[in-house]
Order: sequence, then C-alpha cells, then structure tokens
Amino acid sequence: MADRDGVIWLDGEMVPWRDAKVHVLTHTLHYGMGVFEGVRAYEAEQGTSIFRLDAHTDRLINSSKIMNMPMPYDKEALNEAQCAAVRENNLKSAYIRPMAFYGSEGMGLRADNLKVHVMVAAWEWGAYMGEENLTRGIKIATSSYTRHHVNVTMTKAKSNGSYMNSMLALQEAISHGCDEALLLDVDGYVAEGSGENFFMVKDGVLYTPELTCCLDGITRKTIMKLAKDMGIEVIEKKITRDEVYIADEAFFTGTAAEVTPIRELDNRPIGIGSRGPITEKLQSLYFDIVHGRSAPHLDWLTTVAK
Ligand code: PMP
Repeated sequence: MADRDGVIWLDGEMVPWRDAKVHVLTHTLHYGMGVFEGVRAYEAEQGTSIFRLDAHTDRLINSSKIMNMPMPYDKEALNEAQCAAVRENNLKSAYIRPMAFYGSEGMGLRADNLKVHVMVAAWEWGAYMGEENLTRGIKIATSSYTRHHVNVTMTKAKSNGSYMNSMLALQEAISHGCDEALLLDVDGYVAEGSGENFFMVKDGVLYTPELTCCLDGITRKTIMKLAKDMGIEVIEKKITRDEVYIADEAFFTGTAAEVTPIRELDNRPIGIGSRGPITEKLQSLYFDIVHGRSAPHLDWLTTVAK
C-alpha cells in the first residue's frame, strides 16, 4: 500500500501506518499459511457502520481453526480492533483487512515454534469493479485455471495461499480484455469468481453453486436471505457454464464486489446484456441495507462512529 498517515492495529496495539512492518523471514510470506478477512464499513444513516462484523469475525476464527493456527484474540477483541481501525483512521467508509499470520520465529514447515500475529488495517475503497459496472455489468471469461479441490487447500477457510489461484485467474481474464474470471471446479461445474460468489437467474428462480469449493460468502448468505424474503425461490445446485450462457441474469457477490451484474460470459451476452431486473432489486436492497436505510436489517450493522 502507498505510504500514508494513519494507524494499523498490530498484535493488540495501534501503531503508525509506516511502522507496521514485518521481517523478510515472516513465515506466511514464504509459504502462504495465513487467514484473513475482507470487511466493509459504510457511511450509514446512524454513522459509519461495519456490515456483518460478527459473521466476518466468526469466519476469521473458523479459518484459523481449519488451518490449525491458534488465534491469540477472542471475538470481542477482534471486533473491537476492526472498529478501532476505522474510528482511529477517521474513515467515513472503509475496507477493513484483518489477517492472522505466522511470524519470523522459525522457518520449518512444522510451524511448531511460531507465533501467530494479527493485524487489522482499514482504508477508503470505492466500488471494486468500478462504479459504472454496478449498472452496466461486467464482462467475464471462463478461466483456464481450476478452482481449488475440496481436499487441496480447505475451501471453507479464507486463507492467504488460496489467492494465488485467484490472482492467476484474474490476471488471465484481464489479459483477455475481461473484468473478472469465472472459475470452474475440478468436475467442470461453476465454482465462483476470483473473489466473488456467483448467482444466476433463470425463469424467476435464483441459482447459486453449492458450498463445495466456493467460499461461504457473507454477501452470498445475505443475498440468499433477501431473495427468499422477497418470495424468490433460491436453489443451490451444480451449474454448468452453458447454463450460464442461456441464463436470464447473472451477478457476482462479495464484500468488495458488493452485487456486481455480469453482462457477458465468454463473449455471449447474458439476458438483456446488462443488469437484469432481479439483480437490480437485490442490489438496490443490498445498498439500502449497508447504508442503514432498511429498518429490518439494522442488526447487521455495527456503528463505529457518528
Ligand atoms: N469467494 C472468494 C474467493 C472471495 O475471495 C470472496 C471475498 N471474500 C467471496 C467469494 C465473497 O465472500 P464475502 O461475500 O464474504 O466477501
């Protein structure tokens, strides 16, 4: 990240942004064993608020359990660290990055003499795929890279190392003139984007891949609940890429990507070739909720500052 003023929470203390450093022998830097979260705070009606903080912290703790990395802080401390990172950087809206990583206490793969460190940084970050793509939709391509097999990297964990696969896929998609990649699982079924869950609409029904090798996305869970509340049937199933070609609508969900419509897959326009009506409804409700404009969903917001 660019040099800047501000603070980062590191191992229980706020340290100046420029001093939040680690050694080159940091174990996680070498082997990728670490866990992290991507969380957003929005400028909401009741003040700057973090969306679904509890769910993100639960997933971080679960990721560390899956990776067998003892988490040195409890949920309350991790929640407070995330609030403090937003508050003490005076951010109105923010992307928040908590991460647990192994230090430089040793280099062996046994990882038996290592300390788990935790950091939380926060900074301003607008629409991940660009503001105009929230209405126009993005162009994506099926990736030549396969998503992780369930018995390779442990797909329920949001772990550092698994993002090598995401980056290879995203860079390939961009080099082909696309905005994002659609990764398939080892059997050839749709898995997810490089950093998003996938949804498609066909004949008024919302479909999303089962939670086998895609991340158990918090935005995914949110959208599934909102759709059900709206009376839209939601089905988790194996989806083939040609089902997506003939879908009425498709979109990605993620904390960074929010609800991003997909206008084209592999040079085939999807539905009307821009944001479809069900996508628009869900996206609009999602933005109302994260900005505190929807009374029934205020319990998903944790206010950090007025
Ligand atoms: N899949 C992957 C691979 C991701 O990196 C993300 C972003 N965390 C998601 C899905 C969406 O998850 P969430 O909605 O919890 O941000």
